[in-house]
Amino acid sequence: MSSLAHFIDGRRVAGNSGRVGDVFDPATGAVAARVALASRTEVRDAVESAKRAQPAWASVNPQRRARVLIKFLELVGREQEQLAELLSSEHGKTVADARGDIQRGLEVVEFCAGAPHLLKGGYTDAAGPGIDLYSMRQPLGVAAGITPFNFPAMIPMWMFAPAIACGNAFILKPSERDPSVPLRLAELMMEAGLPAGALNVVNGDREAVDALLDDADVKAVAFVGSSQIAEYVYARACAAGKRAQCFGAAKNHMVVMPDADMDGAADALIGAGYGSAGERCMAISVAVPVGEEAAQALLTRLVPRVESLKIGLPADASADLGPLVTKAHLDRVKDYVALGVDEGAKLVVDGRDFKMQGYEDGFFMGGCLFDEVTPRMRIYREEIFGPVLSVVRARNYEDALSLVSEHEYGNGAAIFTRDGGAARDFASRAQVGMIGVNVPIPTPLAYYTFGGWKRSAFGDLNQHGEDAFRFYTKTKTVTSRWPGGVREGASFVMPTMS
Ligand code: NAD
Repeated sequence: MSSLAHFIDGRRVAGNSGRVGDVFDPATGAVAARVALASRTEVRDAVESAKRAQPAWASVNPQRRARVLIKFLELVGREQEQLAELLSSEHGKTVADARGDIQRGLEVVEFCAGAPHLLKGGYTDAAGPGIDLYSMRQPLGVAAGITPFNFPAMIPMWMFAPAIACGNAFILKPSERDPSVPLRLAELMMEAGLPAGALNVVNGDREAVDALLDDADVKAVAFVGSSQIAEYVYARACAAGKRAQCFGAAKNHMVVMPDADMDGAADALIGAGYGSAGERCMAISVAVPVGEEAAQALLTRLVPRVESLKIGLPADASADLGPLVTKAHLDRVKDYVALGVDEGAKLVVDGRDFKMQGYEDGFFMGGCLFDEVTPRMRIYREEIFGPVLSVVRARNYEDALSLVSEHEYGNGAAIFTRDGGAARDFASRAQVGMIGVNVPIPTPLAYYTFGGWKRSAFGDLNQHGEDAFRFYTKTKTVTSRWPGGVREGASFVMPTMS
């Protein structure tokens, strides 16, 4: 059984806290590795190392910093297949889906290679008599990122690529459920030319997170995970005077209008609801058909599709979805299904008893489909994060829109329709951060920003796109005048340009 620990100062180091966590093979249910859980002292070692490395890294010009990212793209590209297999073996998502996880991370790295352009400041010649005005973006120093289990390649890259491109040193605290890929990515960054200490990885749990939050040398914290922890991290980081962006849970709705292409809508719901076993923050977990006819048309199509989902081993290229990440998470999802039944929702497809032949201890379950879910039910209000889709029937478009807007989470939402006016109205009025029009998972590309509203995000700058360059830099503005220009003598009034 392998032992996983930390990556500090350019090399893998063993853990010495005496505490470890289990990393499972979700297909067999067996413990595949043990991961060290960092103590405060080990986190401090990582911060010291980052603090030592950061000034020299910041003084490397942006073009050379970008070249490290370009080399990293090449190295990951070369190893992508092995990384996808490693990722899927700890997470449980199919290898094909794991390739997408890596690819969406690399696209942000590619965007961040534009750092020389993105870090340009502004300049105003002759803003006043003999006065020029300019601004620059400077790194914060040491930044830290805490990431969830569900995208162990993409989300770490979304954080460390912009942080490092901006001249910061970065400490990553990945999910302790699937730590192998983040560790390997850090090694590849070193191989690509990043100096030791500029990217450290500490594995751990709450103790490591608290150590980062309490460390005065950590100037910014990025977090992605459940909302309760996102809020906690945000509050504690802000109270300590740090910059923070914390992204949380989701309950993404897909509104299906009566004029929608129903076959297309059913395809979209199957992929977006059950892909990656529903363990995506942009998964669709609520389908909202508008009107009885749309509800019937949709359910007629969905039921046989959910019943015939191909649940398989992560390495099975023909599988639609693999196992869930851990037994604890599988039990939690099944408990939600039982709760839905108790609450009075109609369970039209029940996948709880699915067993994978030969892998009876694996964390598999089949797809579940609820009809007649109401907004008061907990299975509607709370995030389940499993292969469970709820149908909430809306009488009309306004009711459907209210459901989306009034839900406490506001990550993404989609509308399926042929009516441009309805789509436009939905895009404008729905109270969520990301909208899809006939697109079920509207995850924006790297050069736009990603982020939800309401309790899906705490903080005011999104991930990737230009927001990432704002988050990982502070702005300095210089007002400059050189001797030899206009001499005004002492002035005791507020300077103006009038
Ligand atoms: P999680 O909140 O359990 O863990 C996230 C991170 O927080 C991990 O690194 C974990 O070690 C750490 N952590 C856990 N408990 C902690 C505690 N008490 N104190 C401090 N740190 C703690 O989330 P998860 O189960 O790994 O990931 C799934 C969640 O992430 C879902 O809610 C999903 O919607 C969300 N998510 C959101 C986005 C987004 O962009 N909004 C993207 C991906 C996932």
